[in-house]
Amino acid sequence: MNTEHSRRAFLASGGVAAIGAAGLVGSAGAGEVGAFSRRGPGGPVVISSGNGIRAVERAYQMVINGADTALAVVSGVGIVEADPGDMSVGYGGLPNEDGVVQLDASVMHGPTHKAGSVGALEDTLHAAQVALKVLQTTDHVMIVGDGARRFARAHGFPAKDMLSDQARKVWLKWKMNNSSRDDWLDESERDWNPEGTQVAMGKGSESAAFTYGTIHCGAVDGGGDVSACTTTSGLSYKIPGRVGDSPIIGAGMYVDNEVGSAGATGRGESVIQSCGAFAVVRAMESGMEPSEACVHVLRGIAKKSRLQKRLTGNDGRPKFNVIMYALRKDGVHGSAAMFPGAKYAVADGQGSRKVACASVFE
Ligand code: ASP
Repeated sequence: MNTEHSRRAFLASGGVAAIGAAGLVGSAGAGEVGAFSRRGPGGPVVISSGNGIRAVERAYQMVINGADTALAVVSGVGIVEADPGDMSVGYGGLPNEDGVVQLDASVMHGPTHKAGSVGALEDTLHAAQVALKVLQTTDHVMIVGDGARRFARAHGFPAKDMLSDQARKVWLKWKMNNSSRDDWLDESERDWNPEGTQVAMGKGSESAAFTYGTIHCGAVDGGGDVSACTTTSGLSYKIPGRVGDSPIIGAGMYVDNEVGSAGATGRGESVIQSCGAFAVVRAMESGMEPSEACVHVLRGIAKKSRLQKRLTGNDGRPKFNVIMYALRKDGVHGSAAMFPGAKYAVADGQGSRKVACASVFE
């Protein structure tokens, strides 16, 4: 059976096609081999970072009711963006060094392979919805800073002061105590300088005073179509204009409709430097299970972080956490963190729940 025929059979079956030699799926061209052997239960399945249980529930309901997966994930994360209680996403998110909330978000639609994203967006509640507008209404992928703010206004997103009173008080406390805790590296802290001297240790964003947090959400429908999005207020007290991994396609989020989706939360700089989400999707394509693919990519990140000594403890472990999330086209999902204890959220035919992430280190 050729691949196109297999794909049609898969789609016609509503995503529960029989497994076997004919079970290769993916949109490979004539004569090409499909991306991986189909083994999972099929969609709909929605996953997210651990802070997204309400997001997966909403997105799952929408997909069940026939919504496009991109619309579903963006709507799902909107609950968390509007929640002042989550100080890592949207309204109430911790601000940058100057006390200004700057949001990063991205969305990718598997069936069209289109992506949209915004970076350092100010004064706007739903960054993921603005990213979706970039995807739907422009030929661009990424709009940042003041351009993103103006783009949001042009599309009717109202201006909103995103700094909650609680976030302002936390920022002010940091501001009053931040003498040695910011993201500016002084000479003794740089891993590389123009003279080529390798130096080590010191402060940096691994200080306990800094906070990471984000929501990533991925969904697959009954036909095997996949979309994902990631939205965040980013690293707290970042240098103004700093853009993390969340809006960078292939770093904090990536979708290949022939394989699945992946996303990241945690130290964005490390995820960018390893093209984290893209690497997870490619690892799944090569045959790794979703959790295995996440562990594989995190091991690579841990290894590379040893080249920047201030990021690594004496035990050789990273001083930071990253969590990767993966959802395969056939509904199989997984996640892994550097360290144990993390959970991710899932909604599928069994209901919604939190599931333990695998970990690289004990
Ligand atoms: N990855 C985000 C960033 O670096 C933050 C996070 O996920 O905690 O901006």
